[in-house]
Amino acid sequence: MYNQKMLALGQVRSVIRETFEYGNRRKAEIGKENVFDFSLGNPSTPPPPCVNDTLIQLLQTASPTDLHGYTSAPGDMLVRQAVAGYIASTYHANITADGIYMTCGAAASLTISIHALACEEDEFIVFAPYFPEYRVFVEKAGAKLVVVEPDYATFGIHYEDLASKITPHTKGVILNTPNNPTGRVLKKAELERLADMLKAASGAYGHPIYLLSDEPYRHLVYDETAPLPYLTNLYPATLVCDSFSKCLSLPGERIGYVAISHDMPNYAEVFAALCGAGRALGFVCAPSLMQKMLPACLGETADLSAYRLNRDLLYQHLTVYGFECIYPDGAFYLFLKSPIPDANAFCLKARDFELLLVASDSFGCPGYVRIAYCVATDMIERSLPAFKALADFYHLG
Ligand code: PLP
Repeated sequence: MYNQKMLALGQVRSVIRETFEYGNRRKAEIGKENVFDFSLGNPSTPPPPCVNDTLIQLLQTASPTDLHGYTSAPGDMLVRQAVAGYIASTYHANITADGIYMTCGAAASLTISIHALACEEDEFIVFAPYFPEYRVFVEKAGAKLVVVEPDYATFGIHYEDLASKITPHTKGVILNTPNNPTGRVLKKAELERLADMLKAASGAYGHPIYLLSDEPYRHLVYDETAPLPYLTNLYPATLVCDSFSKCLSLPGERIGYVAISHDMPNYAEVFAALCGAGRALGFVCAPSLMQKMLPACLGETADLSAYRLNRDLLYQHLTVYGFECIYPDGAFYLFLKSPIPDANAFCLKARDFELLLVASDSFGCPGYVRIAYCVATDMIERSLPAFKALADFYHLG
């Protein structure tokens, strides 16, 4: 007998993976240049030069046992100091090395944080549309996922619905901005309103409601010039769940961190619980070579101009063709309203035009599709006639 929940998880493929795998089969049949695969958030731009330069230098100069050995469980102290120093100087956050826990990417940052906090009967709130893995992570920790309805007017936070969903069982709220799948970047005033609500609810219920800020897209913003607000400054009970998967184009290397500030209630205990969760989940330590590359690359990003160009190309053309799209300020996704109520049926029809899109149902927001535009620009250019034909099929424009 197997664990039935795990068996079910392993047998049911996510719609994103299913679409990606359909794409691979289709590419083998008709040639990869003829398939327009927008399914996966896998960065297409190479890491910035500092990544490979630093790795080469490390491989040529550092002791191999040091380079490939275990680090301490929360991470190499020099790396944690560098990450904390970067955050403190960039965002003026009250963060030092002993509040940094190095992880295997944002997914690990989230699972470690959720497991560190979750007790029986706890609830974690997410905002639809939300990254589908949140449900897997929260339920695996024995807690309940509570979904706040989308705000269809702004795709920001539906504050009224949030207010109705906070209960004495609420342990945490998971926030993702810049957002997958909408590309929306929440403004400071929107974050402040959220922080005020959580402060009031924490006071009313007599325990902190933690904010888990899922930030793999923090540096992928196109229209802002100033750094985005840092959540620990607005709301001390924040666990920042960061990752270098997207900003440094390193999703397969699995490197990220959790950061908490000294203003976090019960700072030392929360950090110890993170260490305990990382241990219980068997992470041991984040990849050593990747950790040691980081100090030289903090604040660097892959070339974002390609993503900006892709965003502009897609948004401009698709809206002219008659599709209704949410304007994406960040991340690398375009959220498009399905012209028919059933977005799955729309995605199937798009396959007739060799367009691989992801229906939004699993993001908790039916009726939309996600287009991941972290692809080569020439694929977008070549895909435009297919989008036009799809629009014509539905008599848009
Ligand atoms: N959170 C969101 C919103 C994501 O989109 C992703 C990946 O696509 C993750 C977390 C996981 O990122 P990582 O590769 O750093 O684990």
